[in-house]
Amino acid sequence: MSDLTANIEKATAYLARFADNGVMNIIDGKTVPALTGQTFDNASPVDEAFLCKVAKSGAADIDAAAKAAHAAFPAWRDMPLVERKKILHKIADGIVARAEEIAFAECLDTGQAIRFMSKAALRGAENFRFFADKAPAARDGQALPSPTLMNVTTRTPIGPVGVITPWNTPFMLSTWKIAPALAAGCTVVHKPAEFSPITAHILAEIAHEAGLPAGVWNLVNGFGEDAGKALTEHKLIKAIAFVGESSTGSMIMRQGSETLKRVHFELGGKNPVIVFDDADQERALDAAIFMIYSLNGERCTSSSRLLVQKSIAGQFTDKLVKRVENIKVGHPLDPETEVGPLIHKVHYDKVCSYFDIAKQDGATIAAGGKAPQGKGHYVRPTLFTEATPDMRIAQEEIFGPVLTTLTFETEEEALEIANGTDYGLTGYVWTQDITRAMRFTDKLEAGMIWVNSENVRHLPTPFGGVKASGIGRDGGEWSFDFYMEQKHIGFAIGEHKIPRLGA
Ligand code: NAD
Repeated sequence: MSDLTANIEKATAYLARFADNGVMNIIDGKTVPALTGQTFDNASPVDEAFLCKVAKSGAADIDAAAKAAHAAFPAWRDMPLVERKKILHKIADGIVARAEEIAFAECLDTGQAIRFMSKAALRGAENFRFFADKAPAARDGQALPSPTLMNVTTRTPIGPVGVITPWNTPFMLSTWKIAPALAAGCTVVHKPAEFSPITAHILAEIAHEAGLPAGVWNLVNGFGEDAGKALTEHKLIKAIAFVGESSTGSMIMRQGSETLKRVHFELGGKNPVIVFDDADQERALDAAIFMIYSLNGERCTSSSRLLVQKSIAGQFTDKLVKRVENIKVGHPLDPETEVGPLIHKVHYDKVCSYFDIAKQDGATIAAGGKAPQGKGHYVRPTLFTEATPDMRIAQEEIFGPVLTTLTFETEEEALEIANGTDYGLTGYVWTQDITRAMRFTDKLEAGMIWVNSENVRHLPTPFGGVKASGIGRDGGEWSFDFYMEQKHIGFAIGEHKIPRLGA
C-alpha cells in the first residue's frame, strides 16, 4: 500500500465520527446542535466530496455561549494561577497525543499538505506551553512610587472574549489566539471559519478532557454574517480577537462599535521580498519560493511580491521559473505533495481570476497560470513577470500559490515599491550590506521584517501588521496587553495636603 493510500485510510477513519454525527457546538461543556437544528454541508477541497454536516448557528446560539462564558468567568479569573498553568499544559499534552488525528483532519478539511501540517499540531501544543508558563505572572504589575503615594499596577483579565479565525491554518491560529486568552484569565467563545470547522472541534474536546471547567471555552460554528456578526455585537463579550481579511476587519469594527468592543486584528498582506544584487542568491531563492508556495500560498505572511534588483533579475528569474515549474501539486495526504488544493470553489475562482487580470494588465505568465484537469481545487504554482507596481497583481492579496515579480534599480526605488500598497504585514530583505539592511528596514512599512531569512516565528516576539494588515500584536507580553486591563491603585503613604473646598 502506498503512503498516500495508507494516509487516506487513516484520515477517513479519524473523520468517520464527524461524517456520522456532524461537527456540533460545544456550549457550557456540552456538545449541542444549533438551537434551530439547522446544519450546512462541509466538502473536501480534494474532490468536493461530503465530509460532514456542521451546526449552522445564529444569534441565539451565540447568546447561550456568551452567557456560559460570562458565568464561568469569575471562577476562571480567580483560579490559582499555578492551577491554570497545569490545565494549559494538560491541553498541550492532549494535542501532542492526538497530533496525527489533528494533522490528517486539517489536510482533508483545508487542502493543506501533510508535509507542513504534520508539524502544525506540535506548534499548537507549543503555543499552549508557552502561555501556560506565562500564566503565573499574568497579573504582575509595577510599583511606581511618588512623593505622596505608593502607586502600583496590576492586570486583570478583560472578561469573556470572542475569537474568530480563518480557514488557512485553522488549528494553529486557534491555539495562537485561545492559549493567551485562557492564560490571561479570560473565558472564550470561538467561532471558527465555516469552511474548516473540524480541528477547532477536536481542540475544544481536548481542552475539556484536560479538565477545563465548563463554560470557559465555548465553540459556536456557523457563517460570518450570522454567528460571527452576533458574536461581535454581543454585550457580554468584551473583546474580539480576529484573524481574517482586512475588509472583514472593517465590518467587525463597525459591528462592535455599539458595544465599544476592544479589537485585535490580524489581517491580509501583500508582503514584499526584496533581493539586492549582493544577496546570497541561492538562499534568497529558497526562502522566496518557500514563503509563497508553502501552505498553498494561503498564508498571511507569504512573500507574494518579489522585488529583484535589475542587475541580477534575469538570472534570478530564470532559476525561479525552473523551480516553480518543478513544484509538486497533489493530494494533501501524499507526503511528496508540496502544494495541495485550495480551500473551496469560491476561493479557487478568485485565485484563477488573476490569470486573466495579469494578462489584461500586460504582465507575463512565466509559470503556471492554469488549473490541472479533474476534480478538486488544484492550481499550478504561478509566476507573473513583466509586472509593474500599480498592477492589480502587485497590489491585491491573491492568497494562493501565485507570485508577482517586479524589478528595481536603486534602494530608494525598492523602498517606494515595497511601501506602495495598502498592506504592511511582513517584509523580507536580502542583502549582505548590514548598513543598508538597517537603513532599509527602518523605513520599510511592515509589522515584522526578516533579514536574510524566511519567516521564523519566535513566540516571545510581537506578531502583527501595520496599515491594512492589522491592529495590535500577539506574542509574549503583547498578548496579555490585549486580553487584560491595566489597573492603577495609589496608596497614600502619609497625610499629604488634600485641597479643601467649602471649608
Ligand atoms: P474572512 O475574513 O473571510 O473570514 C475569517 C473569519 O471571519 C471566518 O470565521 C468568518 O466566518 C468570519 N466572518 C466573516 N464575516 C464576518 C462578520 N461580518 N462578522 C464576524 N465574523 C465574520 O477570512 P478568510 O478568507 O477565512 O481568511 C483569509 C484571510 O485571513 C486573508 O486575508 C489572510 O491574509 C488573513 N489572515 C491573516 C493572518 C494574520 O496573522 N495577519 C493570518 C491568517 C490569515
